[in-house]
Amino acid sequence: MELSFVLPVCNEQDSLRQLYDEIVEYTSHERYEMIFIDDGSVDGGFDVLSELAQQDSRVKVVRFRSNFGKAAALQTGFRYASGDIIISMDTDLQDNPAEIPNLLAKLDEGWDLVSGWKKKRRDPLGKRLPSKLFNGITSLVTGLKLHDFNCGFKAYRREVVEELDIYGELYRYIPALAHRRGFRVTEMAVEHRPRTHGRSKYGMERLLHGFFDLLTVQLLTRYNHSPLYLFGRLGLLSGGAGFLVSLYLSIMKYAYGMPLSNRPLLFLGMLLIMVGVQLFSIGLIGELVVNLGRRRRGRTEVSIRQFVGLNSLEPRRITGSAES
Ligand code: UDP
Ligand code: MG
Repeated sequence: MELSFVLPVCNEQDSLRQLYDEIVEYTSHERYEMIFIDDGSVDGGFDVLSELAQQDSRVKVVRFRSNFGKAAALQTGFRYASGDIIISMDTDLQDNPAEIPNLLAKLDEGWDLVSGWKKKRRDPLGKRLPSKLFNGITSLVTGLKLHDFNCGFKAYRREVVEELDIYGELYRYIPALAHRRGFRVTEMAVEHRPRTHGRSKYGMERLLHGFFDLLTVQLLTRYNHSPLYLFGRLGLLSGGAGFLVSLYLSIMKYAYGMPLSNRPLLFLGMLLIMVGVQLFSIGLIGELVVNLGRRRRGRTEVSIRQFVGLNSLEPRRITGSAES
């Protein structure tokens, strides 16, 4: 298979036929597939998809029993996709299939992931502003400068999706996660259309979740292998400050005879030491968890770009995909 489309669907029944027609119109590949993931739609969307699948064997449908979210839908689509190249798209017609050839051409320039950029975004202001903030902070924190991390329209080389493990709301950070694993990530302006059918599934709460997820991304990509480096450092900071406070109070008491009974500072010192010990313990537990997981998987988490002069792999020790 040359190309797979991964298409998450949640209550988009009125858009699906047009989307199908447009994808067919703008895809020039010989062999491709469209994998629709019906994420617990409660409209007639699944029936439309079944009909399409009956008429066209390139259409495949995975139907969830309930709504598991866009990340789960994408991840499932990635698992079933068999193409060398994968394109993900929203199914509400906001992403324009006319851009498919452009994304593919960009990928051909040697990128592993081309992420769409909704340069002229056709959404209400209440959505565009928080999104600007989100993208700015994410660029700053992750070190990958993109205007639009969360665009549903993306083209991937197969190796990228094989290594992704998206859950919760982590789909917003796909470019950052891929970048951290060493993939070549870029973005490209794509046309964005206003929503004509159905309703948006996302409101303001996404902002708060977004920032929690940013912490998760940092933890997963920066401190995945050594949680003690992060928590140990914080623990030392807190515990050290607490120690200094207590030292000061002790000196005041024993050298100068000042009683401790009316020193609120004492509580601060104790608190800092206790928090420090707790942070440190979290780090140690984190190390245990990482170690356990690694032993269970029996491998080292690396991302291999290619091999030279090596053709027999010991698959239990090293896994990962590579360009041939
Ligand atoms: N979607 C999904 N599961 C969900 C929510 C959304 O599969 O729980 C799909 C939805 O059908 C659409 C895409 O994810 O194809 C983006 O959703 P939406 O258009 O509501 O987001 P917005 O464009 O408003 O950010
Ligand atoms: Mg949309």
